[in-house]
Amino acid sequence: MSNELQPKSVIVIFGATGDLAKRKLFPSIYRLYQSGKISENFAVVGLARRPWTDEVLRENVSNSIKEAVSPKEDLEEFVSHFYYQSFDVTDDSSYSGLNALIKELEGAYETEENRIFYLAMAPEFFGTIANKLQEYGLKDSAGWSRLVIEKPFGIDIKSARKLNKQLRAAFDEDQIYRIDHYLGKEMVQNIEVIRFANGIFEHLWNNRFISNVQVTSSETLGVEERARYYDTSGATRDMVQNHMLQMVALLAMEPPIKLTTDEIRSEKIKVLRALRPINPKEIDNFFVRGQYGVGKIGGETVPAYVDEADELENSNTETFVAGKLLIDNYRWAGVPFYIRTGKRLAEKSTKIVIEFNDIPMNLYYKKDKDRHPNLLIINIQPNEGITLCLNAKKSGSGSLAEPIQLAYNHNPVPGINTPEAYEKLLYDCMIGDATNFTHWDEVALSWKFVDTIINEWSNKTADFPNYRSGSMGPEAADELLAKDGFHWWSI
Ligand code: NAP
Repeated sequence: MSNELQPKSVIVIFGATGDLAKRKLFPSIYRLYQSGKISENFAVVGLARRPWTDEVLRENVSNSIKEAVSPKEDLEEFVSHFYYQSFDVTDDSSYSGLNALIKELEGAYETEENRIFYLAMAPEFFGTIANKLQEYGLKDSAGWSRLVIEKPFGIDIKSARKLNKQLRAAFDEDQIYRIDHYLGKEMVQNIEVIRFANGIFEHLWNNRFISNVQVTSSETLGVEERARYYDTSGATRDMVQNHMLQMVALLAMEPPIKLTTDEIRSEKIKVLRALRPINPKEIDNFFVRGQYGVGKIGGETVPAYVDEADELENSNTETFVAGKLLIDNYRWAGVPFYIRTGKRLAEKSTKIVIEFNDIPMNLYYKKDKDRHPNLLIINIQPNEGITLCLNAKKSGSGSLAEPIQLAYNHNPVPGINTPEAYEKLLYDCMIGDATNFTHWDEVALSWKFVDTIINEWSNKTADFPNYRSGSMGPEAADELLAKDGFHWWSI
């Protein structure tokens, strides 16, 4: 049994028959149970319209766990904590029955009336559900009540404000847990520790020693079954507004004075406030959009984006975005932060490259072009770890140098995986730690920044497709760095 806190709670999952619940939530709750982070004092209520029973839900939970992890003999006991109620979130009559069920489970499992409402449903329902939870007194228990919201949080600043207003009419800011699952990833959480627990990095972590920072999140997959959703979103909304800007904020923030949620969030917010807004007239100097054409992934020919589904014909939606961000503060003035993300790229990888300024004179390389600046690479996924690129003497006679790598692999033992992002985030929510969730101010500042880009692009039809599936995006994304004298590192 773990020495950590073992929170007690009823977890109500809206959308329990959906993909997120099946692939992420059920296995994560099981892992928390197996590792002793939650004890017997929990129950899960699954809600969706389908006429399932407790037994059908339990069977589905078992199956999803068997697909994701190797279950032990405790699986049957674990699934007995799951209950199902057929429920239409738009129908008032559903909510009164829910309160009775939760109260019964609170008595049976002694959960101290702590409640998590996890909205694993389409965002159009978030406002309605929050409102009904308030109206039917579901959030007014003797214990704590927390609302977990999935992405996307709005589609622009206007809709995000409207949604936030609806949520805040029912819940306080500190009861709202906005998921950005990148913040649950081990190596994203590690950015802060690598920076602030190592003198050798933190002293150099500024515009005197760093020439540029590169954040890449690339996927080999196309839109798959999500064509309709994705086409209304695009890479900027889907990835930049949330995950990419969150990683930039963690890379650029000042050291917090304490490791508390408020202190860390306030440092991240300052970075987002210091982001230089994009002047729409200069957008092409700072941002590049792309859409994939036909190409090859893993030796197989894959179709262009517009041929993936009927509704995508004539689509102007970007499946790739690269950008140059400038942070106007004392630490970062003059250092470009380049970001790029896209679908159907050459590899699936999320990584951060910190490029340090080269030394003024290097006698150890015959040709300038062979010189290699020091790099710190933080591998987020699928490999987790850090690599430091240094220069060392080439073995043998002479004193010429060559680049070498010091690599630390965070998950070297097969089968021993670091906890899944959702597992950590669910646990954090249960213990009331909102550090790795996004505050409304972060959401609002991020939307304000990307809205200019999205608006500008929506007014002009792009010349798509402009990159081949299986490449690393449009040529213009390389030129974005080349004109500053840099290039994307692929180490
Ligand atoms: P999904 O597979 O389409 O599931 C939607 C769920 O909502 C189903 O359980 C559906 O069940 C239920 N539902 C729909 N209308 C309802 C109503 N009127 N009343 C009650 N239940 C209703 O969606 P998902 O992929 O799980 O995504 C859920 C949320 O997570 C979305 O906000 C999405 O953006 C976010 N998200 C998902 C992923 C992922 O990997 N899937 C990743 C990141 C974020 P019934 O049809 O039985 O009612």
